[in-house]
Amino acid sequence: MVGGGVIGQVSALALARARWRVTVVDPSPGRGATVAAAGMLAPGGEAAPGEEENHRLHQSALDAWRDLVDEVAEATGEAIAVHRVGTLVVGLDSGDRRQVEQYAGVARGYGVALRALARREEPAPFEGLSARVTQGVFAEGDAWVDPDEVMARVRGANEALGVEYREAVVRRCSRGAAGVLAQTDDGPVEAEIGLVATGAAGLPEGVEAPAAVTVRPVRGMTLRVIGPDRYHLPMVRAYVRGRPFYAVGRAGGYNVLGASSEESPVRAVELGELQRLLRDGLEVIPELETADLLETRVGLRPASGDLRPFLVDLGGGWWWSSGHYRHGVTLAPVAARRLVDTVGPA
Ligand SMILES: Cc1cc2nc3c(=O)[nH]c(=O)nc-3n(C[C@H](O)[C@H](O)[C@H](O)COP(=O)(O)OP(=O)(O)OC[C@H]3O[C@@H](n4cnc5c(N)ncnc54)[C@H](O)[C@@H]3O)c2cc1C
Repeated sequence: MVGGGVIGQVSALALARARWRVTVVDPSPGRGATVAAAGMLAPGGEAAPGEEENHRLHQSALDAWRDLVDEVAEATGEAIAVHRVGTLVVGLDSGDRRQVEQYAGVARGYGVALRALARREEPAPFEGLSARVTQGVFAEGDAWVDPDEVMARVRGANEALGVEYREAVVRRCSRGAAGVLAQTDDGPVEAEIGLVATGAAGLPEGVEAPAAVTVRPVRGMTLRVIGPDRYHLPMVRAYVRGRPFYAVGRAGGYNVLGASSEESPVRAVELGELQRLLRDGLEVIPELETADLLETRVGLRPASGDLRPFLVDLGGGWWWSSGHYRHGVTLAPVAARRLVDTVGPA
């Protein structure tokens, strides 16, 4: 397994359960785009026009997540917490409210169960939001996980099942005596089959994909702050003068705010991007004013040409799984299943 982000490590778990002996090679497992993710498993709140097929896939991921939680618990005795709090979708000005209406039309068309909420009648889900937010729609099936916890637990499960981790960069992928050979900066790794799951980094030298299959990096930033305790509240997805903003409240007043989106391969905390995110966040949730900024996290989302994930046979025993774009945490157990269904048990 070349790459130990959420796709690589969850796929490694599925392979190990199918009795493959797996080695994950990554210089910093779990520290790619995965570390920046908010961890929303939110097909309801994220339904977008023209993406019905993706939406169905995201919806199916919620079931796949139940199985993943069970599999990790079976291997380690420890559960990954899945917080089913739902998403409240709101708009700040009249244009934004029209966007919410458009979103709701699309989501309902995909079969998402939405409830229109008026703040006057049901104030609780609106706690802490700007007084300008007087209405919203609530998608109740949505959930969140903490990607840091996911990565730690999945790694624990992998190690319990004998998966080996090598902290190295793969420089070249080729054929080997046993099947495939990965040249790393810490020596060679030989195996029967190889999976490249390097996210937005793309393919190492030595393997090539069909011309139609590409990934490009789309940078995103989330902020981690300690502030208002929103743990008991739904996730908030807001349109702010046309820009999307979200907030996920974890325990102890820890909030994840996101996310920027820039077509860029550079992992940088650009001040303009940071300012827009802070400004939007403070407008939607004014009580963030006194929150303590803990850190910014930046990741490169792997976007394919058609924004759909893919699993491609590169030939010579090599496979490539990527293109999970804004939904890799959600889709990881689906990608892992697809891989095992394709390569079969050991
Ligand atoms: C700001 C932001 C917020 C997001 N929020 C969400 C969310 O709420 N919900 C959701 O479902 N998704 C979310 N995502 C998307 C999700 O994070 C990605 O789709 C997912 O992390 C992709 O996983 P991956 O394993 O393919 O890539 P990565 O996580 O980037 O992992 C790739 C790994 O490959 C390794 N690697 C690269 N090259 C090599 C090499 N040559 N040799 C060895 N190892 C190598 C890297 O070190 C890295 O660990 C978000 C993304 C961002 C940026």
